[in-house]
Amino acid sequence: MTKKQKLLNEVSLEILSCKTCNKLKKGELVPGEGSASADIVFVGEAPGKEEIKTGRPFIGRAGKVLRDLIESVGLKAEDVFITSAVKYLPKTYITPKDSDIAHGQTHLSKQLDVIKPKVVVILGNTAALSVLKEKLSISEVHGTTLDRNGIKYFISYHPAAPLYSPKLREVIFKDFKKLKRLIQK
Ligand code: URA
Repeated sequence: MTKKQKLLNEVSLEILSCKTCNKLKKGELVPGEGSASADIVFVGEAPGKEEIKTGRPFIGRAGKVLRDLIESVGLKAEDVFITSAVKYLPKTYITPKDSDIAHGQTHLSKQLDVIKPKVVVILGNTAALSVLKEKLSISEVHGTTLDRNGIKYFISYHPAAPLYSPKLREVIFKDFKKLKRLIQK
């Protein structure tokens, strides 16, 4: 195992034993999974019901969309890192509050510090708030890339979006064609 993978595993263990996360969580904590040497990290919102049953990110219906998208750009899930802005499903509500996002940010920034990806893919509003600390209108900025401190931040919808609004499926797949061109550069 590489030193980087060991460090990333340590961050995962730190998340799993985090007192704040454990106090607020319903079900398992979901730190994320994938390769520590990934060039690309995908950041979602928070685990859903399927994820908290298993402790694995993006394995429910939105996960199927994300995994199809990852495949569509010629990548394998095991070669990227998949995580969420918040590592738990809050006990009493579904959408993370600002305080959940702020706390999740402490964990996410450690994961990004270890992985040092070239591209961070921001999947939806919560991920944008966590990673960029900005409230974005995803419908206006999806498919665009921000360059900050040598890292590229590619913005798209959360993969659950087409489950509620089917016409967005084509829009997200189009975004990911741009992502493919970005990672081939
Ligand atoms: N949505 C997310 O943002 N993350 C998951 O792991 C699952 C659904």
